[in-house]
Amino acid sequence: MQQKFSPAFTSRLPQVGTTIFTIMSQLAREYDAVNLGQGFPDFPMSEELTDLVNKAMRDGHNQYTHMNGFPLLRERIAAKVNHSYGYAPDAEKEITVTPGGTYAIYTALTAALQPGDEVIVFEPAYDSYIPNITINGGVPILIPLSFPDYRIPWEEVKKKITNRTRLILLNTPHNPTGMVWTSEDMQMLENLVSGTSILILSDEVYEHLIYDGLEHQSVLRYPALRERSFVCYSFGKTYHCTGWKLGYCIAPDLMMQEFRKVHQFNCFSCDTPKQVALANYLENTTAYEELGLQIQRKRDYFRQLMSATPFDYIPSSGSYFACFRYGHFSDLSDMDMAIHLTKANRVTCVPVSVFYHQGTDNKVLRFCFAKKESTLELAAERLQKIIC
Ligand code: PMP
Ligand code: GLN
Repeated sequence: MQQKFSPAFTSRLPQVGTTIFTIMSQLAREYDAVNLGQGFPDFPMSEELTDLVNKAMRDGHNQYTHMNGFPLLRERIAAKVNHSYGYAPDAEKEITVTPGGTYAIYTALTAALQPGDEVIVFEPAYDSYIPNITINGGVPILIPLSFPDYRIPWEEVKKKITNRTRLILLNTPHNPTGMVWTSEDMQMLENLVSGTSILILSDEVYEHLIYDGLEHQSVLRYPALRERSFVCYSFGKTYHCTGWKLGYCIAPDLMMQEFRKVHQFNCFSCDTPKQVALANYLENTTAYEELGLQIQRKRDYFRQLMSATPFDYIPSSGSYFACFRYGHFSDLSDMDMAIHLTKANRVTCVPVSVFYHQGTDNKVLRFCFAKKESTLELAAERLQKIIC
């Protein structure tokens, strides 16, 4: 009898399992739970934008487009960035359209890192960052945000900078906490990297999901920061179409040349009809300018509904997410609590310990409030009946 082939396979990511978003969404389906775990809207995206994709397909935009992105879309992105942050990147040399924000982050790290390079990452950190760094030979240097206000501990950052620091990875508005960087934070960052060769990777996928009249502090507003930054965005977050997996990266010419060397042999070019549609839609500035207020209403409504439950709200000023504490009424770990809520209350959320490399468990759960009012109402009603 022939022996079954057993590949000798040494994992490139031995510590990594399946992402929490897949695990929790699967569990939500199994228990027919309201899914406030994985971050995606359950309300429809713009009909106009959907029609524009159909039109682009009918008009014959169905073949490969330029590897760096449909040229008109790159021009419109440059105009949008100028409108938002007062800086117009060169559409030819400094913008590349990518299949989502995560891919843009991965590509930037692949382009920038040499084995042993240190990357400063703030925790809790979006779950793709650390695997993306380690698979590219980098060494994550983890700095916890303060708790429970989730601010940057600048003195600690200063101490962690060495002559091997290659890059600082930041995310504002922040997933999972909804914390946003202030202009003082940007100034601190600028002071810290000035005179060094440290690069910045700025994950700004929630740029328009910012609340309470706060202004998004894009690194693109700061000349001394943008000259050393890869800045990553996602259309999925801005136009309620996370399943489109389209985004873009902005970086100075020389850095972008390296980014494109990686990109051209990985994805080459992204979905053409959607790029054509977005090029035609991007001039509609109200669509993203009103987004903050529209989603802020959902945050406020969810917060109000949750006040009838025993969970304690931690202020969120941006993103799709708000975190809640429960340590005052249960000793369950946050993972066990998230599973319990899915099974017993049929509401799914995400335990925040998974965003810490060492699994720090502050008994905090992340809920996505980018949902229809009826969805939020059902979730809160079920959470009122919590028994632990
Ligand atoms: N960064 C953060 C912080 C995110 O929450 C997400 C979530 N989707 C992404 C990047 C990636 O976005 P995309 O779906 O466009 O890859
Ligand atoms: N960004 C989304 C979140 O944080 C999910 C993205 C994903 O499922 N990979 O929930």
